[in-house]
Amino acid sequence: MGLGAADQLLRAGYEVILFEADKKLGGLAGMTILGGFQIEKHYHFVYWGDEKNIQNFFITNGAGGTINWRTLKNALWYQGKLQSIDNPVAILLSSMFKVTDKINFIKAFFKIHLTKKKDLAGIRAIDWLKKTFSSRLYHILWEPLLNMKFQEDKETLAADWIFTRLKYHTASKRPFNFGLTFGFITDTYQPLFEKITERITQQGRVHTGTPVKRIQIENGYVTAIKTPTGLCVVEPTEPVLSCVPLPILSQILSGAPQAVSKMLALYQMLDVIDICFLADRSISPYFWINIGDDQAPFTVVIEFSRLTGTERFGGKHLIYLSRYHKKTNNEQAERSDEAIKDIYFQYLKKIFPCFNEKSVIAWQVTKSQNAAPSFFEDYIHNLPPRHFSEIENLYIGSASHIYPLDRGTGNSIRIGADLVQRYIQETTVRNQ
Ligand SMILES: Cc1cc2nc3c(=O)[nH]c(=O)nc-3n(C[C@H](O)[C@H](O)[C@H](O)COP(=O)(O)OP(=O)(O)OC[C@H]3O[C@@H](n4cnc5c(N)ncnc54)[C@H](O)[C@@H]3O)c2cc1C
Repeated sequence: MGLGAADQLLRAGYEVILFEADKKLGGLAGMTILGGFQIEKHYHFVYWGDEKNIQNFFITNGAGGTINWRTLKNALWYQGKLQSIDNPVAILLSSMFKVTDKINFIKAFFKIHLTKKKDLAGIRAIDWLKKTFSSRLYHILWEPLLNMKFQEDKETLAADWIFTRLKYHTASKRPFNFGLTFGFITDTYQPLFEKITERITQQGRVHTGTPVKRIQIENGYVTAIKTPTGLCVVEPTEPVLSCVPLPILSQILSGAPQAVSKMLALYQMLDVIDICFLADRSISPYFWINIGDDQAPFTVVIEFSRLTGTERFGGKHLIYLSRYHKKTNNEQAERSDEAIKDIYFQYLKKIFPCFNEKSVIAWQVTKSQNAAPSFFEDYIHNLPPRHFSEIENLYIGSASHIYPLDRGTGNSIRIGADLVQRYIQETTVRNQ
């Protein structure tokens, strides 16, 4: 998002000074090295409907960015069995479901087609899903998905979020294809990070490894930005765009009016722990497996090289095991990487008894804080503001601002760019 905003500022002729806490640009979509290959810290596929924002961003920055699409098989691990869940036919033929489940599933299909998003405001996702699909189908099909993304916060998730997601997901099905279609960027996001850095440094500066420790507010304006290397003075006529997660912004805003701090405190986020490994063989025919077991240490298995092909990784297979965590309930984060790896691999052997650690060439654990927003009931009527009238030159964007669409990279780029447009429009009006 920060890069989307920087790009738009450059296009509007501004000099950009970018502060990034990490040593490298990219945030959650950043890259790392595993077994000598450049890989994404966290798995990223391109969402259907999100591709235009991403592609335009690559093209306008001269960073390539061809998106390829593949239709892949997906499954659910439930009560000791792997079951394809790609399409209604697979569900109707499955021995996992009773006849009543199958009837309920068909009914749900029609109910969803008759539902309008506006009718769902203020309704909990759990209540709507149980009513639409039945409690049993909710438990088998939906609970693992909601656990994967929201953990305990699923209890308060709003129905309009899941409804929008469902519409997008079904839109990524192509007729006559059994499976879902996912996109991937052939050259990864890395060329984009390099091109943007190059562009910013022509007119301004990129400070990586430089966390902002304080955004100083005085008399309704940001007046300074404090980092470990110094203080950057900000004039009232200069915009400050914050694209960090809202829980971080809430910590670093200093001197903000109480109403602003109170509002920011509403927006909580989940952390994530991923382990990714390169193996000399594939573990399953599936791209994506949701884990329907509360006791499992991870909630999803993604054989990423099924999407990208193994050529990118020297013929090896790249697999991610992932789980989001609430900050207050995060025992895993306390564990060493080695301990996490042992726990995750032990459970993986339960799903794939043939999985042998000797096939693993390299592995890495990535722990990221504030990785996904947590949405509460009636979120649609409580969206975070992009601008507080109490702080005139501060504009705010974050994953918490993307709702009810999912916070894919394309949507993040769009929100970053919109932030700049909004700043320019509002300043023009104020100066008239
Ligand atoms: C496990 C996982 C899987 C995902 N899968 C997909 C996917 O398949 N497809 C998809 O499109 N999207 C996916 N995403 C989402 C995608 O990664 C994000 O939407 C995208 O990276 C944009 O994020 P952002 O810029 O809003 O936030 P971030 O990437 O979190 O960027 C915030 C930046 O702020 C920096 N920062 C934090 N504090 C400070 C500070 N004090 N000072 C300076 N800098 C600071 C951080 O280091 C970071 O670089 C996934 C995310 C996760 C976690």
